[in-house]
Amino acid sequence: MKFSDRISALAGGGAAWDVFFKAQALAAAGQEVTMLTIGEPDIRTAPAILEAMQAAARAGNTGYAAIPGIPALREIVARRVRARTGVATGPENVMITPGGQPALFASHSAVLDPGEAGLYIDPFYATYPGTIRAVGGVPVAVPTRADAGFLPEPETIRAAARAHDARSLLVNSPNNPTGAVYPETTLAAIAGVVQDEDLWLISDEVYDTQVWQGAHLSPRALPGMAERTLVIGSLSKSHAMTGSRVGWVVGPEAAIAHLDNLAIHTTFGVPGYIQEAAAFALGQGPGVEAALAAPFRRRRDAALALLGNQNIVNHVAAQGAMYLMLDIRATGLSGQDFALRLLDAERIAVMPGESFGQAAAGHVRVALTVDDATLEAALARLVAFATALAAGERGVPDRG
Ligand code: PMP
Repeated sequence: MKFSDRISALAGGGAAWDVFFKAQALAAAGQEVTMLTIGEPDIRTAPAILEAMQAAARAGNTGYAAIPGIPALREIVARRVRARTGVATGPENVMITPGGQPALFASHSAVLDPGEAGLYIDPFYATYPGTIRAVGGVPVAVPTRADAGFLPEPETIRAAARAHDARSLLVNSPNNPTGAVYPETTLAAIAGVVQDEDLWLISDEVYDTQVWQGAHLSPRALPGMAERTLVIGSLSKSHAMTGSRVGWVVGPEAAIAHLDNLAIHTTFGVPGYIQEAAAFALGQGPGVEAALAAPFRRRRDAALALLGNQNIVNHVAAQGAMYLMLDIRATGLSGQDFALRLLDAERIAVMPGESFGQAAAGHVRVALTVDDATLEAALARLVAFATALAAGERGVPDRG
């Protein structure tokens, strides 16, 4: 039987995921592998949030929940957005989704018709092109340069928008995988292009609590942008709730009504007890969010100090998010080959930069999602390994 091309066409990572799957297989076979691969916080959801979830379920909130979200959660998301951005935002501007990924899918569904181009910035979070393809759109990567800190360049966006008659632009600050936090000048210039070219801006802000340098600015807050911006949010990273699957889209009321129709035909909402737990989690305020982000800040600082002692493995000084992008071009290897050899020789798994697009070739991404001592030891071994490779000592013995 034939399956749809639409879904077959989603997979885009190809060989770049080999390292990840190989590392998983080694770990499953009982080998000790330091996993610095995926963006899953290494702590679990706080007991108080689980208690709120259980209390809601026991109280009977186990039926179909309101679409596009229970009023209490929509209200608290709106309040959080108002407090963080100053933009007038009410519950009517909020759609609750089963996580940030469905919010990305919903947002692109809302603004792209089949065959229309959606721009995204390279390097990118691995699902971006597939998400655009999934809604029938044509994904168009807009490259950035490592030596420009992987910040998007407005004129490159403009050229891509014109060349492809694009309808939308997807940006992500704080950025996965680069750790870049877009400065206000960059965001203002992007906003100018978006308005000139009449694009929708889809702003993935799932790392908005993880800013180590500078400040998070939501482009929705820039003049003229609230009416053409859809913001993606999630409790996955901010509250260590990856498995609960809860996030949101914030945008113009008409866009949210449009998405309501999509939810009726796809997810049929998010479980009510999960939404109540999410409302409880957000209700704890920014102090809890800062405490959850603190370990990543600490590990990032320690990692940058460690990397500062050598000049073989360069890095893009991560300003946010829970990753470090390391430049391993001094070894002469691609990110893919370096990552495979590092896994074979040192049992350390990192993501090849090539998994995140062309712009990150010759880099690897390290997730700061293991305890401090393990991370520092792994980074020291990674640097030693890269140094030996760069010195031409290619005969580093494998561990088998
Ligand atoms: N956007 C980015 C940039 C991400 O890194 C992730 C998860 N790693 C997501 C969206 C989706 O997260 P979730 O669906 O768990 O909210």
